[in-house]
Amino acid sequence: MKTEQVDVLVIGAGPAGTVAASIIHQAGYKVKIVEKMKFPRFVIGESLLPRSMDALNEAGFIDAIKAKGFQEKFGAKFVKGDALCDFTFKEQYTPGWTWTWQVTRADFDKTLADTVESMGVPVAYETTVTDIRFNGSDSVTTIEDKDGNKSTIEARFIVDGSGYGRVIPRLFNLEKNSSLQPRKALFSHTVDTRRSMADEPNRITAVVHKKGVWIWIIPFSTGVTSLGFVGDPEFFAQYPGTDEEVYRALLEAEPYTRERFRDVELVFEPRVLQSWSATTDKFYGDGFVLTGNVTEFLDPIFSSGVTLACVSSQTAAKLVIKKLRGEDVDWEKEYMEPTLQGVNTFRSYVMAWYEGTLDTIFFKKDADPVIKGQICSVLAGYVWDMSNPFVKNHDTALKRLARTIELTEKLKSSSEIE
Ligand code: FAD
Repeated sequence: MKTEQVDVLVIGAGPAGTVAASIIHQAGYKVKIVEKMKFPRFVIGESLLPRSMDALNEAGFIDAIKAKGFQEKFGAKFVKGDALCDFTFKEQYTPGWTWTWQVTRADFDKTLADTVESMGVPVAYETTVTDIRFNGSDSVTTIEDKDGNKSTIEARFIVDGSGYGRVIPRLFNLEKNSSLQPRKALFSHTVDTRRSMADEPNRITAVVHKKGVWIWIIPFSTGVTSLGFVGDPEFFAQYPGTDEEVYRALLEAEPYTRERFRDVELVFEPRVLQSWSATTDKFYGDGFVLTGNVTEFLDPIFSSGVTLACVSSQTAAKLVIKKLRGEDVDWEKEYMEPTLQGVNTFRSYVMAWYEGTLDTIFFKKDADPVIKGQICSVLAGYVWDMSNPFVKNHDTALKRLARTIELTEKLKSSSEIE
C-alpha cells in the first residue's frame, strides 16, 4: 500500500479544513487535505458573520472570495407579524469587521479549496478517511479513493474538519448528545423575481412564523434566494403531501412570504435536514484537534456555524504550529475553553430564541441603542469579547433584560388604565 508523509493531515475541505490548512501551510509545514466529495458540492450554511472575516483574512482567502462577487451582507432583520427589528453591523459594540457575505456554499467552499490548493496544499478529492491509528501524537491514516484504492498517510498531527462526517468522534467513540432538542429544516433556493418587495438583498431576514418555527431568507447576488423553514418535526407533520407541497403550503401560510414567493420557481426540490445538533466530549487529543462542526453544531438561527468553523480553525492552526515547533500547548486552556466560550454564548442565544425571550427584546419599540449595539455584536459573531455584558453574562443577561422590559410594559399599561 502506498504511504505518504506529511506534517499535518487535514480532514475535510470545508471552511474549517481550508482555514486551518492555509494557516499551517503558511508557517512552512507540509499539509495535505483529504476530502470525501467532489467539489463543488452542496452544503447548507449560506449566511456568514463579520467575525469570520478575520479568520478568512489570516488564511489569505479574502481577495479570492471578493473576486466571486458574492452578495455583501451588512446586517440581519427579524420579523414577527408587523413588528420588525433591524440590526446593522455598523452599530456593533465590538470593534472589527462590520460586513460579510451571503454565499452559495458550493461556490464559496470551492473558492477556499482552490485558493489553498493554489498556495501549494494538495487536496485529494473523492477520497475518504476510513481508519486512523495513533502512536503517541504520530498517526497513520488509511484513506480510500473513489476507485477503492487504499493508501496511508503518516502525519505528525491531524486537524479533523470533517463537519457532519465527524470522523474522529465516530472512529474513537467521542460522540455526545447535544443539549438542544432535535429540529428539522425544509429549504430550497428560489428564483426571487419579486425581491424588490423587501429592503434586501444586503441583509438576511429571520421571520418568526409561530412559536418555535421560523423562516430564513438569504438573498444571493445572482437573484436567487435561499429560503428555509425550521421547527419541531411535529410542526411539519401537520402538513400533508410531498416536500414541495409542504414547502409551498408554508410559504402561503406566512403573510411575510405569501405574495413574494407565491408560485416561485425552485432551483431544486426542497430538501430536508434534521437532528443536526451534535457534540463531543473533548475537542482535542494526543495528535489531533477537532475544528468547525465536529466540535459542536447548535442551530442555524444565528448563522454561527461557518464563523465558529473559521475561528476554531484559526485558533487550532496556531496551536498546531506551536506544537510542531516543540513548544508546550495547554489544549484545554488555549483551545477547548475559548472554543466552548463561543459555542456556549451562541447556545444561550439559540435557547433564548426558541423560548421567546429574544422576541421580547428584539421587538420592543425604542430599544436602548447601547444594549442593541451589544446584542448586535453577538449577532455579528463577536462572542469572545468579555467586555460585552451580553457575552460575559450570556446565560443570564437576556432573561434579565426581557424581564425588565415585560415589567416596564406592565407598569406602563397599568398606569395608563389608572
Ligand atoms: P463542512 O462545511 O460540512 O465541511 C466538512 C467537509 O468534510 C465536507 O466537505 C465533507 O465532505 C468532508 N468529509 C466528511 N467526512 C469525511 C471523511 N470521512 N473523509 C474526508 N472528508 C470528509 N452556518 C452558517 O454559518 N450560516 C448559516 O446560515 C447556516 N445555516 C444552516 C442551516 C441548516 C439547516 C444547518 C443544518 C446548518 C446551517 N449552518 C449554517 C451550519 C453550517 O452548515 C456548518 O456549520 C458549516 O458548514 C461547518 O463548516 P465545516 O467546515 O466545519 O464543515
